[in-house]
Amino acid sequence: MVKEQKYIVAESLKDAIRAAVASEHDFRFIAGGTDVMVNRYQGNDNTTCLIDLTKIDSLKGIAKIGDYLRIGALEILEDLQFSDILRKEYPVIIEAALSVGSPLIRKTATIGGNILCENRCLFFNQSEWWRESIGYCLKCDGDICIATGGKNACFSELVSDTAPALIALNAEIRYMDKDDTHQVKLEDIYTGDGVLPRNLPSTAIVMDILIPLNQQIETVFFKLRERKSMDFTSLTSAVSKTAEGKLRIVLAGVDPKPVVIEGNIHDDWEDLIKKAYKASRSVDNDTYSRKYRKEMIKVFISRSLNDLNN
Ligand SMILES: Cc1cc2nc3c(=O)[nH]c(=O)nc-3n(C[C@H](O)[C@H](O)[C@H](O)COP(=O)(O)OP(=O)(O)OC[C@H]3O[C@@H](n4cnc5c(N)ncnc54)[C@H](O)[C@@H]3O)c2cc1C
Repeated sequence: MVKEQKYIVAESLKDAIRAAVASEHDFRFIAGGTDVMVNRYQGNDNTTCLIDLTKIDSLKGIAKIGDYLRIGALEILEDLQFSDILRKEYPVIIEAALSVGSPLIRKTATIGGNILCENRCLFFNQSEWWRESIGYCLKCDGDICIATGGKNACFSELVSDTAPALIALNAEIRYMDKDDTHQVKLEDIYTGDGVLPRNLPSTAIVMDILIPLNQQIETVFFKLRERKSMDFTSLTSAVSKTAEGKLRIVLAGVDPKPVVIEGNIHDDWEDLIKKAYKASRSVDNDTYSRKYRKEMIKVFISRSLNDLNN
């Protein structure tokens, strides 16, 4: 029997949270819907209530606020390139945003939805009948991980392309839950568990992303995918260097959470690469093999360090 579906358009943050609490966890917030709707279509998300956030104006805008550059969670990926302040301060965010999906996706998708998009795996992002034919997997309705041949852990991968760029820039997020506002480092919201990849309360609404200003930071971004449009990442890397030589190496697409390695441009590069390689728990759940993606970690990091050293 088809369950009754509800679609609520929230006019304010309080409205959205009230609707979420009333739905007793059987809901999903929706911004651009480019991730949510595909997961629902494939039967990977069976919540019966959608709470639309797009009318909440306080979630929009890009501006300097105190010591931070603020990007509202509802900012559309395609529109980021038209922000003078973003282009001047942190062009790598625009580069990352413009690497997402296709033009059509980017004209609808938001940056908030991007950092919160669902982890992916070849054995999860399939139709209901396909997943049923293999007995489902740990991430949805099954009891073992198919990709690893039966492990009791899920290695679905973080595929957000903006998250590594933002984390390389020391970004934080603000979210509202019930009546309280919280500010946390972006990397701290990811758990590393592919089944429940984030530790935000289910009723939390991400309001904005805050990037510290005046960091004197340079960042290099690379993305591996089969086609230069449409495809999700098989490996994204963002490597930043401050004027003092401090490095942040951030990878996505090779672990359920972002892999973050800190160091200095004067450290032994082989050691840094080895650390990132070892920290990435990628498995064979992508169209590219695990071995190839792991090798590409070495290539991307050494290219990035070379670029930052010149
Ligand atoms: C063909 C295709 C290709 C794609 N390629 C890429 C790619 O290359 N790289 C990539 O990173 N992504 C890709 N995506 C995934 C997706 O399109 C993007 O991640 C997009 O940025 C998601 O944003 P959205 O606004 O559409 O999110 P939605 O689908 O609306 O939401 C995504 C998730 O975030 C939650 N959410 C959204 N906003 C908030 C908020 N403010 N507070 C709390 N929760 C919120 C939703 O509940 C949901 O769980 C692709 C999708 C498709 C269909």
